This record gives sequence, structure tokens and C-alpha cells, in this order.
Amino acid sequence: MRIRDHLAGERRSFSFEFFPPKSRQGVETLFATIAELQALAPTFVSVTYGAGGSTRDLTIELVGRIKRETGLEAMAHLTCVGHDRDEIGATLARLAETGVENIMALRGDPPRGTSEFVRPANGFGFASELIAYIRDGWGGRHDFCLGGACYPEGHTECPNKEQDLRNLTAKVAAGADFLVTQLFFDNEHYFDFVRRARAAGITLTIIPGIMPVTNVAQIERFTSMCGATIPAALRDLLDRCPDDAAVVEAGIAYAAEQCRDLLARGAPGIHFYTLNRSTSTVAVMRSLTEVRSGK
Ligand code: FAD
Repeated sequence: MRIRDHLAGERRSFSFEFFPPKSRQGVETLFATIAELQALAPTFVSVTYGAGGSTRDLTIELVGRIKRETGLEAMAHLTCVGHDRDEIGATLARLAETGVENIMALRGDPPRGTSEFVRPANGFGFASELIAYIRDGWGGRHDFCLGGACYPEGHTECPNKEQDLRNLTAKVAAGADFLVTQLFFDNEHYFDFVRRARAAGITLTIIPGIMPVTNVAQIERFTSMCGATIPAALRDLLDRCPDDAAVVEAGIAYAAEQCRDLLARGAPGIHFYTLNRSTSTVAVMRSLTEVRSGK
């Protein structure tokens, strides 16, 4: 199933994102998590691509195994980092052979230890170039459905949101089929971004990306890396938590309220950043039972 076909229909999209674990044991734990989440009948799940292209084989392997063993639709992430176009072409061929129909096409972050993204020799400097290559340069040999990333609070490297939106327009023009946002904790960022994107002529579905907080230090690290902000209401809630278990509960309550508001105000679904754990995502999804259907 190509995700764009689902998005063209009447039903909202609910999806879960995983990262490739570092150990074999971690892989088995991930499959236990997927088994728990499968009962929620997600539209699709996705597997990220490690920094520096480090998890290429594992990402493909996991996506293939998820499709085979669970029957869930699985999207592979792919980045431009450290690959020339021949390597990207070979990866696309492997993805096609594995039966993958959906790719989240990204530029990727600069490899660890470096602060600036450097275009690989004979490679791609922006996600829009990767998307254009998959659509045209590679010969359109396989009709992949392509997702692209977008940033309600602006991308960290871009001087302002207006420029970032112009760059996003190029990504859409290159052939993206749908967009998924970076995590955010204030829904006004999402709705303001969607308004600005529509005004700029972007008509694609923009799926909000939500991460239920499970650990304060971790969320501070993530937000400082990706440029998202922690609003005062969430900060106060977390400050009042006496222990780690209370943080998880607060994270569930906050994310559930965020999702309810997003769906009530017309969001086309939710993409959950699960961090390979099921507890918070299951709890939030269960709280949405009444508002999950329809568009
Ligand atoms: P781009 O769209 O290429 O944008 C990167 C920067 O370049 C932006 O500042 C943009 O404004 C600017 N820009 C774009 N085009 C131009 C142009 N023509 N001229 C000048 N400037 C331009 N990272 C991973 O490593 N693996 C993953 O699996 C992964 N999955 C992700 C999934 C989602 C949904 C999201 C939101 C992010 C994900 N990331 C992942 C993080 C992502 O790789 C980083 O945010 C990265 O810094 C930017 O990737 P991009 O595809 O958005 O890049």
C-alpha cells in the first residue's frame, strides 16, 4: 500500500516510528513492541536511517521483516549522508526488491563529530535533490511513494521560517507525496505552519509528529538538537513530577491532550515518535478511540 493512496481516502492516518536497535536483543525487543502496537492497526510504521548512513542494511532488513512477519505497511527512511548517487541507486534497488513502496526521503543531519552537512562527492545536498533523483534521475524505475520532513518551528540551519518554507516548496515540487512534521509541543506551531504552507501553495497532507515525553533529560536533548521548544505549560507539568513514573504519566496526559486538539481541529492523523517503546503510544492511542475515525 502506498501511503499517498491511504491519505487520499476518508480515513485518518496513525503511524509509529522506530529506530534500528544497536543489538540483536534490541531487535527482538523491538519486535515485541511492534506486536503490542499492532493491535492498534496503524496505517503504517516507519524505520529511521542512522546518522552517517550507519544503519542502511539494518533499516532495509527491519522494514522487510516487519512487512513479512506482521503484514504491517512499513516505510524506510533514507538519507543523503555519506552516499554518492550510485550507492543511493543500489539502495533504492534493494528497497524495491524487498517490496518497499514508501520511503521517507531526507537529507539527514551532519555525521557525528561534524557540525555542518557536506554534500557527498557525486551525492545530494538537500532532500529535494534526493527526491528528484528517486522520481527522475534513477529512471523512475519504481513508483515509490515519498514522504518529506517539515519543521513547524523552522529548521535549525535555516535563518528564518520564510526561507525554510520556500525550500520546502522546492521539496514538494521535486515530487514529495506527503509531509511529516518534526516533533512539537505547542499545537499553534502546527496550525500556523499549515496555514503558511497552504498560503505558499503546498496542498500535500501534513501529518503532525508527536513524541510523548518519557524522560526529561532526553526531551531537553532532543528539543535542543531539533530546534523545537518546550512550552511553559509542559515545563511546569514536568517540574511537578516527583519521579520517573510520574514523568511518563504526565507525558501521556500531555500528548493525549495535544492529539485530541489536533484531531478536533482537522489534523489528518498523528505520526508517533515511539522511541521503540509501546506504553505511552498505546495509552495515548487508547485515549483517542472516539476521535480516531473520520477526517
Ligand atoms: P532538507 O529538506 O534538505 O533541509 C535541510 C536544510 O537545508 C533546511 O535548513 C532547509 O531549509 C535547507 N534547504 C533545503 N533546500 C535548500 C536549498 N535548495 N538551498 C538552500 N537551503 C536549502 N534524520 C536521520 O538521520 N535519519 C532519519 O531517519 C530521520 N528521520 C526523520 C523523520 C522526520 C519526520 C523528520 C522531521 C526528521 C528526520 N530526521 C532524520 C532528521 C533530518 O534528517 C534532519 O532534520 C536534517 O537536518 C534535515 O533533513 P531534511 O530532509 O529536512 O533536509
